[in-house]
Amino acid sequence: MLIERQFVADVATHGKQRQMTGGIMERQIYLDHAATTQPAPEVIQQMLPWLAGRYGNPSARYQLGQEAGRCIAGARKQVAALIGADEEEVYFTSGGTESDNWVLRGCLSGRKDGKRHMITTGIEHHAVLNTCAQLEREGVEVSYVMPDGEGRVDVRDIEREIREDTVLISVMYANNEIGTMQPIREIGLLAAEYGIPFHTDAVQAVGHVPIDVKASGITWLSASAHKFHGPKGCGFLYMRKGHELPSLLHGGAQEKGFRAGTENVAGIAGMGAAARVCMAHMSGDQESIRRQRDYLIQKVESSIPGARLNGHRRMRLPNNVNFSFSGLEGAALLLLLDQDGICVSSGAACSASSGKGSHVLEAIGVPEEYQRGAVRMTLGPETTREELDYVVERLKEHIFQLREMTDA
Ligand SMILES: *Cc1c(COP(=O)(O)O)cnc(C)c1O
Repeated sequence: MLIERQFVADVATHGKQRQMTGGIMERQIYLDHAATTQPAPEVIQQMLPWLAGRYGNPSARYQLGQEAGRCIAGARKQVAALIGADEEEVYFTSGGTESDNWVLRGCLSGRKDGKRHMITTGIEHHAVLNTCAQLEREGVEVSYVMPDGEGRVDVRDIEREIREDTVLISVMYANNEIGTMQPIREIGLLAAEYGIPFHTDAVQAVGHVPIDVKASGITWLSASAHKFHGPKGCGFLYMRKGHELPSLLHGGAQEKGFRAGTENVAGIAGMGAAARVCMAHMSGDQESIRRQRDYLIQKVESSIPGARLNGHRRMRLPNNVNFSFSGLEGAALLLLLDQDGICVSSGAACSASSGKGSHVLEAIGVPEEYQRGAVRMTLGPETTREELDYVVERLKEHIFQLREMTDA
């Protein structure tokens, strides 16, 4: 009961409060939707029964198991609809990382033709880049295509890398740091022309922009529920009919024998609900988020000197704002904003802990004095203009302070 009451309170405030020591509630402004999103109320509601009384194993033959099986089937339909796939082409995984690993390893395993060359980009998520690095250690050859100054990859550059032994072209749908969207349809056409399978890590795009796997010539697509208001630890891989990859995980016969392991029923139920919510609100929500995004960009540019927008101005995710501020550390700015209850990211969440600079900002040639001062603010459907005004006000003050300190 306690949990449910907390849940209702969270929903009522959109989670916009944080508990301070001493029990005082302070407001929270969450601008890190590229790192993860808050599960929608419908998602939690959909999940709860499968975590509680309806705990059957979907592979079991009795009623309790069969109802879990039907739940999974329903979610598969909802997820398929979100990307224009057939339900039989959707395979549930533990998230984006597993889906990416499955494709990169799967397209090589069991090959008899000896082909071992892949093409990807230098700005992929580490789920792709680090898997490629490991594959290279195992003897696979990987070509990394570099983007232009706004983070766009040119199809002609991809075409130049195609070889006799190329087995895969893998290009992310939209970048997780700077939000730049890639020319996915053009790449799909190119891949089809050469008869090479095309994978896209669409973790940042699914549920945020309309996707049509068929029209885009996508062979495999990775997605993750927690990036579109679903639960963490749950995702899927789209595999076009006739292009099923060998299993990454061996064991039971779940997912038609392609992905062993008892299904995360509650997670899958939640992901299905998240897909439904995104479908229902996509066009309206994205239009208003896009307006908020452009408002924030314009406001930062007009009120903070030495601000540089990273990424493409138009071909970018509707919720992504990434600025570099000269002469300061993004990490310091992040900590100061956190004290105001504002959640942002400096560079990418994943590289923040490694201490290395962002491979994406380096790839797009962000000038030296701007590279360390990057702040990513990714908006959500609950973001208000008043919140953005407050964020810019705090940004201005902290940036002024930080620059004074470095100048002194
Ligand atoms: C978050 C993310 C991933 C990893 O997804 P998980 O479900 O967290 O494993 C992969 N690729 C991109 C582009 C991402 O943003």
